[in-house]
Amino acid sequence: MTYSVAACHAKGKCATDKIFGANAAAAKAAAQYGKNKVINATIGAFMDEQERLACIPTVEKVFKNFSINHIIPYAPIAGLPDYLAAMIELTFADHKPEAYLDAVATAGGTGAIHHTIWNYSEIGDTILTSDWYWGPYKILCQDALRTLDTYTLFDEQQKFNIGAFSAKVREIIAKQNNLVIIINTPAHNPTGFSLSDSDWDQVLDLFKDCVKDTTKHIIPLIDIAYIDYAGEKNACRSFLKKFGNLPANILPILACSMSKGFTMYGQRTGVMIGISSNKEVITEFQSINQFTSRATWSNINYSAMKLLADIYQDKRLLAQAEQERGEYYALIRKRADIFMREAQEVNLHMLPYIAGFFITVPVENPEAVCEKLHEDHIFAVPLAKGIRIAVCAVTSEKMTGMAGKFAKAIQAV
Ligand code: PLP
Repeated sequence: MTYSVAACHAKGKCATDKIFGANAAAAKAAAQYGKNKVINATIGAFMDEQERLACIPTVEKVFKNFSINHIIPYAPIAGLPDYLAAMIELTFADHKPEAYLDAVATAGGTGAIHHTIWNYSEIGDTILTSDWYWGPYKILCQDALRTLDTYTLFDEQQKFNIGAFSAKVREIIAKQNNLVIIINTPAHNPTGFSLSDSDWDQVLDLFKDCVKDTTKHIIPLIDIAYIDYAGEKNACRSFLKKFGNLPANILPILACSMSKGFTMYGQRTGVMIGISSNKEVITEFQSINQFTSRATWSNINYSAMKLLADIYQDKRLLAQAEQERGEYYALIRKRADIFMREAQEVNLHMLPYIAGFFITVPVENPEAVCEKLHEDHIFAVPLAKGIRIAVCAVTSEKMTGMAGKFAKAIQAV
């Protein structure tokens, strides 16, 4: 036992990040063997075909034109009003639900997840997400003294496992009054899966049934970090309309981020949007989340919010930015298509990819397979039950032949 002065709840906290670890190993190999020989499939950011971190050119242009007075000011704690209004419009596009809506600026999508866990579950409560999940969910829960539980995301046909989902929701809601459920869709990290509109119908029917007991509250936290790389703008947003006219004890919250959609990863800018049929729930949403912002990071990045508001207000700039992002999306699709086609040729089983930054190959011994792949200078992220491949970061050229190498490594281990 090492000497510790930490408070009881903080003792032993240590976030070892497998993603950064795998990325460091790739960087070391690149220094040793040359960048051209190394495939770094660990990075959760879009890299162009020259393997450079890409910034949407319109975003870069607007940002670089800011005077210092658009970079250094404090922002209102709730966020710049024009930014919040723009984020609401961009998030819903043509699918705004019939409901009261409000938004609070957050430090990235992570901040929205943090606030939802803190303000909508009790200390000691269980939060639910799928068995394939983005690792920080667990850290966010643990740090807030909550527990993360999971349901099996896919059934035997590799479809959304509504049976497993329903069983877990009913089990947990029987024990606690508030249930926060994190659903990362569309373009889920790490699988690339998206719930279909009919999956959503089943999910919402279940929620409506569970909250007939009016002491119960369900808070679906929909993490839409990858929505701008999930397909045609309105098609991949159609599910959002379904959040209208829900019972007041169902409060969907959207965790939105500028990290991927506007390639502003490190600028730490996001928003949480609350959707309710009850005006008081939304007034409370605004008030309590703003309070928690004050208590955690105070206000967020002024210039990133200003940038989004400026782009949104100039329809020409917005169209340009969306077109440029569309080109990135097309490249990611092309890379994913290469992997999927080759995977089929070599009989490599992968989880159902619909869109987004990542593909996952389920394997029994992820660490050992990843080690084996290092012999081919391929670096990917070992998860609990599979390996995550960042199709956002591997060029089309390097993607070619990779599925075969995965199949060989799995066989060899
Ligand atoms: N949710 C998922 C699934 C993610 O992968 C990420 C980023 O990697 C985020 C949310 C939030 O990102 P940020 O806090 O940078 O907006």
